[in-house]
Amino acid sequence: MSTTATQSSGLATVRAEIERACREASRDPASVTLVAVSKTFFADAIEPVLAAGQKVFGENRVQEAQKKWPPLLASHPGVELHMIGPLQSNKAKEAVALFDAIHSVDRPSLCEALGKEIARQGKRPKLFVEINSGAEVQKAGVLPQEADDFLKRCRDAYGLVIDGLMCIPPAEEAPAPHFALTAKIARRNGLKLLSMGMSADFPEAIAMGATHVRVGSAIFGAREKH
Ligand SMILES: *Cc1c(COP(=O)(O)O)cnc(C)c1O
Repeated sequence: MSTTATQSSGLATVRAEIERACREASRDPASVTLVAVSKTFFADAIEPVLAAGQKVFGENRVQEAQKKWPPLLASHPGVELHMIGPLQSNKAKEAVALFDAIHSVDRPSLCEALGKEIARQGKRPKLFVEINSGAEVQKAGVLPQEADDFLKRCRDAYGLVIDGLMCIPPAEEAPAPHFALTAKIARRNGLKLLSMGMSADFPEAIAMGATHVRVGSAIFGAREKH
């Protein structure tokens, strides 16, 4: 298959799986946003997915997104870009300018920088606080037992409106308990959005209430190490 055919059939398969998972969970498919994770792929791989009508894309590096996306966004009005990777506070300015959502809010210093930039630029991306649901030492995110305090601090100390939570379950564990824990923290804090589920587990995430699934390789194919 040509690369174009590969990506559009990957997208069609993922869309069908989302619809099936929604049917099984008695959910409206319109309540789940597919974030097509295009990190490491160049415009030639992204264009067929844009042509197939995909409107929301995820990237994990500010600099890479700044290089790739401005021309694509200019030629495809209405496309949203989501930041899904770790974000340094000194990139908050660029991130607020470029992204429509940030899924990786996880530290007071980043909250402070985002609060300033949102006020300065008058542009408010949707914000997700990342939960380190498996309490993994090497992983970003707020520990589950610290999440309620952190969310309160986001509002009270930094004036941020937090829209939802995000999690990346530990690679070697069943994801469902991590999705359930993240959903529970969101519920008790009155947060409506849940960014959870990747290529390997997005149907399970939808069953547990995901509103945003972040799917890369199932659409674009395998990535080179990055
Ligand atoms: C790369 C990435 C994804 C997509 O992963 P796939 O397994 O390719 O679907 C989702 N979320 C985050 C945070 C990522 O970095």
